[in-house]
Amino acid sequence: MAIPQTRNRSWVAKIIADFCDSPANTLGNATGEPAWGTPQVGYARGDDPLFESLKTDIGPFYWTPLEAFHLAYPDTGVTAAELSVICYILPQTEATRREQRSETAFPAERWARSRFHGEQFNCALRLHLAAELTQAGYPAVAPERLPDFAYRQSERFGIASNWSERHTAWIAGLGTFGLSDGLITRAGKAVRFGSVVVRMKLDATPRTYTGHQDWCLWYAKGTCGVCMQRCPVDAISATGHDKSKCFDYIRNVTAQYVQEHYGTGATPCGLCQVKIPCEARVPL
Ligand code: SF4
Ligand code: SF4
Repeated sequence: MAIPQTRNRSWVAKIIADFCDSPANTLGNATGEPAWGTPQVGYARGDDPLFESLKTDIGPFYWTPLEAFHLAYPDTGVTAAELSVICYILPQTEATRREQRSETAFPAERWARSRFHGEQFNCALRLHLAAELTQAGYPAVAPERLPDFAYRQSERFGIASNWSERHTAWIAGLGTFGLSDGLITRAGKAVRFGSVVVRMKLDATPRTYTGHQDWCLWYAKGTCGVCMQRCPVDAISATGHDKSKCFDYIRNVTAQYVQEHYGTGATPCGLCQVKIPCEARVPL
């Protein structure tokens, strides 16, 4: 017998919430603090036309949910309409945001830890969610965890991955883009994302916006621009986010800094995600 739709969504959300309540959610420091606060979850239809539009905009290497699903389950005759995309937000904690607010050039220790240990947790969560759904009879895959996940060169947008968690979250009703390219969600911009494609019908989360930048004060009202002042290398300007400048800074400067000072890996920065009106809320 089919499980009612509402049960399906709350069941999925509980898998995510329970994992976030586990000891795996950790900054890996002496205090044993969690890396992330309470998660939020959004859902999109696997055949939402925005996924195809994204592929057209970004480039042929970009995956639709169906293409990602077929990489994991090549022999199934599944259609896009039978798939749903589950997307979650992991908000930075108040302690991490507070510490990061006082920094002007390099990421704070908690922020660096959330980018390293917290992202390891996020990777585990993606796989855990996909495994739980699959075991329950709903084959699922976390596109970002597929072996072919990679960064490529998009003609229009420069460096781009073949699956974007932020764009997926936008389609799943979780937020809109800001001047700095980050997604402004109901939990603000100091968040990370994850997603899973599943062969299961789930009601899509309504998008309470029409444009893809509706919740940014710069685009909605011509005000703010505070994130520009937060970037130490002027990678954010009135024309948006300079990905190359940002990339150079995180690869060549902050990655080494956090390795030397905190013993963490990855390429954190995120100075533009705090001390701004959209840090932990929709600013409008
Ligand atoms: S800080 Fe202001 S301009 Fe920058 S993304 Fe947030 S709302 Fe938009
Ligand atoms: S993440 Fe990139 S855009 Fe944001 S403050 Fe750091 S260098 Fe600037």
